[in-house]
Amino acid sequence: EFDVKEYYKKIYKGSKAEFMKKLEGEIEAGKKQCVVTANPEIFMLADRMKEVRGLLMAEDTTIVADGIGILIGGKKLGFHIKERIPGVEICSDLFEWADKNRKSLFLFGAKPEVVETLAKEIEREYPGIYLCGYENGYVKDKDAVLERIAEKEPDISLIALGAPMQELLIRRHMASFKKGVLIGVGGSFDVLSG
Ligand code: UDP
Repeated sequence: EFDVKEYYKKIYKGSKAEFMKKLEGEIEAGKKQCVVTANPEIFMLADRMKEVRGLLMAEDTTIVADGIGILIGGKKLGFHIKERIPGVEICSDLFEWADKNRKSLFLFGAKPEVVETLAKEIEREYPGIYLCGYENGYVKDKDAVLERIAEKEPDISLIALGAPMQELLIRRHMASFKKGVLIGVGGSFDVLSG
């Protein structure tokens, strides 16, 4: 049996500001990595799905506490996590940073009108971002989309399909990425495009 403490040990414990600084530095350096924005449900899913666990525990994965549930769960187990680092805030902070630093971005997920609205907003409000593509999350062949993204080598790939679909896809395709960060951001596009 896998001990849930192993996930809590691995969770990023610092502040959101500290995390963003670290992430941006690593993107700048071309480091390939994955960020899992976790809620307690993902740990239960990981118990049943070894591919999800594989992604959570991978060396190039950072787990952050998306919701308050992780902070509460951590406290019960004796882990102090400074604050929440919600996926939606990672996205908006990265947009600001990517705009100033001319980084490339791919958006995958949410309903067609949602991702299209968000793409147009980004092009209008963040002209420094190179939006190298976007795709809605209801296409049949999602693996083909990940292959397309990997070919484009974006600095930032946001995968907004909900858990565990986004984690399973990232797990399957991580090896074909050469650089950049892949982040599973759940329903963030719905919030950001609103
Ligand atoms: N979604 C998608 N394709 C699917 C199923 C869901 O793109 O086949 C999108 C959905 O439109 C929503 C997001 O995935 O934007 C899931 O949001 P939810 O808040 O349910 O996920 P959570 O953040 O709880 O993981």
